[in-house]
Amino acid sequence: MNALEILKKTPKTNCGKCGYPACMAFAVAVVSSGEDLAKCPHIEAEDTGAQVEQVRDPDTMLLKTLKNKVGTIDLAERAQMLGGRMVKEQGSAMLELSYLGEQVLISEKAIITASGTEPDPRDQILLYNYLFFGGKGDLSGKWVGLESFPNSISKVVTLKRYTEDKLAREFEGRKDELERQLVAMKAEKAPECHADLCMIVPVLPKVPVLINFWDADEEDGFAASVKVLFDENAMEFLDIESLIFAAERLAEKACGQ
Ligand code: SF4
Repeated sequence: MNALEILKKTPKTNCGKCGYPACMAFAVAVVSSGEDLAKCPHIEAEDTGAQVEQVRDPDTMLLKTLKNKVGTIDLAERAQMLGGRMVKEQGSAMLELSYLGEQVLISEKAIITASGTEPDPRDQILLYNYLFFGGKGDLSGKWVGLESFPNSISKVVTLKRYTEDKLAREFEGRKDELERQLVAMKAEKAPECHADLCMIVPVLPKVPVLINFWDADEEDGFAASVKVLFDENAMEFLDIESLIFAAERLAEKACGQ
């Protein structure tokens, strides 16, 4: 079975009992990383022994699956919920969103940037996840660390290594350069700041990320450090892996990668 066939076996209720936030994510994990089909208690027992078609490139497989799903949703409705807007390009209705300071257009066929190029597949997967998550409310305006979210203990280490430590190392002694890079992503200074630099980066319209930067203090022997915060309601707009990836992409872009 491939991912779509597995998805069809699930009730598509996104109940989370398998440990994944959505049936789609579970189906892709089964084919891409050998997740056990029996983890979904709703799949018939005779199906759980079925042959699963493993794929070598999970990103490509996932992207294909996600693309096929766009036609099943109302883009105009999502545009309102996700802070985007509908535009017409070459006769087709597309959802326009801002992603890390750049406009991207999402249609039933593809995701393209305003300059007409296809974003990196990993960015496309993030954008599709944002689209399908749908957004279930408003931002709270209250900032919290990743550790405040459920099941985040092991993920805090990933955020520290690939985002916080990366930014701290790259911009030690270069606070103004960090500010310049973040402003290029349409970041604004946070109204309250208890660090040397506090910038709110609108990674996606409903996924702002607050970067707190403390520069090195040679006198006291402290190296530069960074703490990333998310809106308390961020998980209404993205799953935890996607939130971490969003922060990682922010760091990579700031570092010119
Ligand atoms: S347990 Fe089954 S129905 Fe529930 S989210 Fe997972 S795959 Fe979907």
